[in-house]
Amino acid sequence: MPIATTNPATGQVLKTYEAMSDEQIDAAIERADLAFRQLRDTTIAQRARWLTAAADLLDAERDETARLMTTEMGKTYAAAKAEVTKCATACRFYAGNAPRMLADEPADAAAVKAKRAYVRYQPIGPVLAVMPWNFPLWQVMRFAAPALMAGNTGLLKHASNVPQTALYLEDLFRRAGFPEGAFATLLVGSDAVDRILSDPRVRAATLTGSEPAGRSIAQIAGREIKKTVLELGGSDPFVVMPSADLDTAAEVATTARCQNNGQSCIAAKRFIVHTDVFDAFAEKFAARMAALRVGDPMDDGTDVGPLASERGRDEVHAQVTDAVDQGATVLCGGEKPSGDGWYYPPTVVTDLRPEMRMWSEEVFGPVAGLYRVGSYDEAIEVANGTSFGLGSNAWTNDPAEQERFAVDLDAGNVFINGMTTSYPELPFGGVKNSGYGRELSAAGMREFCNTKTVWIGEGEGEAGAGAGAHSE
Ligand code: NAP
Repeated sequence: MPIATTNPATGQVLKTYEAMSDEQIDAAIERADLAFRQLRDTTIAQRARWLTAAADLLDAERDETARLMTTEMGKTYAAAKAEVTKCATACRFYAGNAPRMLADEPADAAAVKAKRAYVRYQPIGPVLAVMPWNFPLWQVMRFAAPALMAGNTGLLKHASNVPQTALYLEDLFRRAGFPEGAFATLLVGSDAVDRILSDPRVRAATLTGSEPAGRSIAQIAGREIKKTVLELGGSDPFVVMPSADLDTAAEVATTARCQNNGQSCIAAKRFIVHTDVFDAFAEKFAARMAALRVGDPMDDGTDVGPLASERGRDEVHAQVTDAVDQGATVLCGGEKPSGDGWYYPPTVVTDLRPEMRMWSEEVFGPVAGLYRVGSYDEAIEVANGTSFGLGSNAWTNDPAEQERFAVDLDAGNVFINGMTTSYPELPFGGVKNSGYGRELSAAGMREFCNTKTVWIGEGEGEAGAGAGAHSE
């Protein structure tokens, strides 16, 4: 894939970049390693000042950064501005909460026959971050903010279609005051990932992206015995039960499917509706989807901009066509527009069956699959009947049912009467083929920490670790 900015609203190539040479990659890794030695010896308070400075820069530069993202990947300008603000919030969250998250945790010294015992969280070194284009600032920030606060350094291999946003991020952390090399952008293709992750100075990797990319990185990391966090695809269920407020559910369903032009890992993608309310919900939902305004992402009135690439649009349309050819019913949308830009209309498809691609594959565009179910148990069966397990949504005003969904939905998160989203305060991640590990909250920060046991004995007499202890 060329490293280039191509405007999805026009198809015009605006800027291209040469991939970095092996020598340049090695030099960046060396700088990241040196910066790590510096950063781990700084205080948490110092790192918090730098991260707060990054938040201030993000706020000050919100509009131009948002314009850059819209130009590179097509999200609406309004959504891009909100993304910048969310990044600033996450920086401030980690600057404020890292002292608590990284504090030593005392253990029961008597139980482990110590004078003192505690757990210490220490950084591990340079971490490779392989990132996708769909939230080009946020996906990186939710790794970078906790990683830098913990004292790690970051090497970013961003998606090849967002090079300018990638370079902005490197510049942002430098201007915020972090040491030279603490956060570096490597303008490289995915073929360079093996070389980078195999380098002994690179200690771990995090990937947000597709399942094939996850498999590839996990294989390299397995060979090298390095920790990985994988945030992969999803085909989130959105279950609607008879007690739900159908108007609110249909409204939120529309946003949940079409946010970010339908290109979100945690977008609701499969709408599983109880037969008692199926027809009413389908009508309300399809009407709202059809009413969304598709157009220039820079226009204030636009709800849905273009998809990020021509290949992405072709794939989405092929999935819809495959379903229609096998008997599925289109309630709205489903036609590929002609003309410039990679637009696709909000689409609702029903009468789906397991042999259709849409049943089991992730659809990365504004296309909803609508499923009719006859009971709670059937809803759970369809919701969990996927290889993915990232987010999940259930709409019900029955308190007992709410508790059951929370337990029974097989996913990294469950949102009841709301839309899946991410907050710095809450862990984020998936199960099954959606990946493993967690981002955000204290859990995300500690993924790239050495959770070190510290045991201090009396240093005299007979007492000590040997007395009554098991050894492995
Ligand atoms: P992608 O093709 O996997 O690309 C993501 C990143 O991985 C890019 O930087 C890409 O580089 C790189 N990459 C691709 N193949 C690779 C390989 N074999 N080895 C090493 N690196 C590789 O995914 P995408 O199409 O850009 O993004 C959409 C996918 O990401 C969807 O499945 C979506 O659900 C998922 N996603 C997940 C989350 C989450 O939090 N779980 C969040 C957002 C998106 P190039 O650009 O150079 O190819």
